[in-house]
Amino acid sequence: MQEVGICGSDVHYWTHGRIGDFIVKAPMVLGHEASGIVSELGQGVTSLKVGDRVAIEPGVPCRMCNYCKTGRYNLCLDMKFCATPPYHGNLARYYVHDADFCFKLPDHVSLEEGALLEPLSVGVHATNRAGVGLGSTVLICGAGPIGLVNILTAKAKGASVVCVTDIDESRLQKAKELGADYTVKVTSRDAQQTAQLVEEAMGEKPDITIECSGAPSSLQTAIYATKSGGVVVLVGLGQEHVEMPVVNAGVREVDIRGIFRYVNCYPTALAMVASGKVNVKPLITHKFKLEESIKAFEAAKRGEGIKIMITCTRN
Ligand code: NAD
Ligand code: ZN
Repeated sequence: MQEVGICGSDVHYWTHGRIGDFIVKAPMVLGHEASGIVSELGQGVTSLKVGDRVAIEPGVPCRMCNYCKTGRYNLCLDMKFCATPPYHGNLARYYVHDADFCFKLPDHVSLEEGALLEPLSVGVHATNRAGVGLGSTVLICGAGPIGLVNILTAKAKGASVVCVTDIDESRLQKAKELGADYTVKVTSRDAQQTAQLVEEAMGEKPDITIECSGAPSSLQTAIYATKSGGVVVLVGLGQEHVEMPVVNAGVREVDIRGIFRYVNCYPTALAMVASGKVNVKPLITHKFKLEESIKAFEAAKRGEGIKIMITCTRN
């Protein structure tokens, strides 16, 4: 493995030992946002060569079930996903992965960018599910790494206006750097009031809202803020039960859609980076060596920066 980014879920497994029903019962290697250099090939692999630089799509499904066969392998019940217990992640010097979930990087795409295809794929899938296209107006709630990649993918897909909310001013600053047209600082739990601020900033309600914070009041804002007939995509995962204005969504025909990770999105994410349509490099704020992983995780736990990368090669 060469470059591995730290995700909020890695930190959560480290500090809490579980996410929902996924419980760490035995020591588990963390990491799932990775790229590497092929050092050995399994029997029969012809798609890659030793020395190839690859991005690693971390979830390998069964390839046999109905979800897999109908192209929705992210919903496969038999998914083996890096650093989702009981499967080890790839924050390690060497790691074995199925060749068809390794994506060869062109020479001009760096290994860091390769690792960032993982969160970028979440943005590709969320904007696909949302139906973002030419001229869409989009609200993104929450400007963490996931909200930020959604700015990149929404813009690349032709969104005409992107507005971003957060409670943290430095995150909104980053959102502006990455292409947000408007930002709204959330200062109250009154969702209708925040929706009103969004409408004032954008000049009208957005066609699409992509909720990337998981905060209950933000989930409510997502519904109130969206245009009638529009779409809300739930990306942020917080509490299991949240009170939501469902009548408001119902009578205004606002569709609420979930997303789970991504499916068939790595090729698109790679094409976006390779063509220069999106630039993921500004997401990286910290770099550590594998030996400094504890320091890296402590920084991530403190909420420092945006994306913390760990380099796993011995120099
Ligand atoms: P993060 O915690 O870094 O970012 C969340 C952001 O939301 C922060 O910047 C925070 O300040 C902001 N926020 C908090 N309360 C808010 C509010 N009331 N209004 C607006 N913004 C608010 O997390 P991340 O890594 O960017 O991930 C975002 C969410 O997406 C997490 O809940 C994560 O679990 C989820 N996620 C879901 C999937 C999926 O497949 N559905 C995949 C990846 C991540
Ligand atoms: Zn399957």
